[in-house]
Amino acid sequence: MIGVTENLRKIRDLLDRAASDAGRDPDRVRLVAVSKLQPLAKILEAADAGQRHFGENTVQEGLDKVTKLAGNGLTWHFIGHMQSNKTRAVAEHFDWVHTVDRLKVARRLSDQRPRELGPLNVCLQINIDAEAAKSGVGPAALPELASAVSELPRLNLRGLMCLPAIREGFDEQRLPFARLRELREALEETGIPLDTLSMGMTGDFRAAVFEGATTVRIGTAIFGPRQTTLEANARVG
Ligand SMILES: *Cc1c(COP(=O)(O)O)cnc(C)c1O
Repeated sequence: MIGVTENLRKIRDLLDRAASDAGRDPDRVRLVAVSKLQPLAKILEAADAGQRHFGENTVQEGLDKVTKLAGNGLTWHFIGHMQSNKTRAVAEHFDWVHTVDRLKVARRLSDQRPRELGPLNVCLQINIDAEAAKSGVGPAALPELASAVSELPRLNLRGLMCLPAIREGFDEQRLPFARLRELREALEETGIPLDTLSMGMTGDFRAAVFEGATTVRIGTAIFGPRQTTLEANARVG
């Protein structure tokens, strides 16, 4: 009735087709279902349909869902702005953080990651369009940050993430994703191996897959429009 199962199947088909059209292996494109401001019932429907990776962008709502759905074998990705006073909860409850953009936050996440959980997987968020309102490290400061983060003992630096400005048209949409791919290639040449490019959402995932996305973060196309905060909290709580 909710339609999440059917939506997931359609998106997975579109991702597989995008990968084959781009000459890539569809198994190398992971789908993270972005469940922020969506009720637990929809997440459970997605989990029943076989979806394992979910993304949340606020600590409080994310923690609530991680806790309530513990034991379901799900993998949780933190994809929201990372405040340095909220690192502990993220280090203790999430498997991935896509939005590390400064060393202070990375150090805290590493220090606070519980031993028994294994290293926390992290991506560095790049402010790919140099937008004043968006978080992310600039390309010029990236090599130094990547090198410092790769040394932290309780983190596993996996890759790069971006959230570009909205663009119309496939060719336009590919440009920022191509730049992220090139930034990864440049880092790999300096001896920092990265297996993840986290890029592409509901409106631009095909372009992202064409430029090498290994993780796409898709919400609306799977779950439908997001609820307001109050409604979602009431449904979750
Ligand atoms: C909300 C969000 C998404 C998903 O956006 P949709 O357009 O609903 O697919 C992806 N990435 C981040 C960082 C988000 O905050």
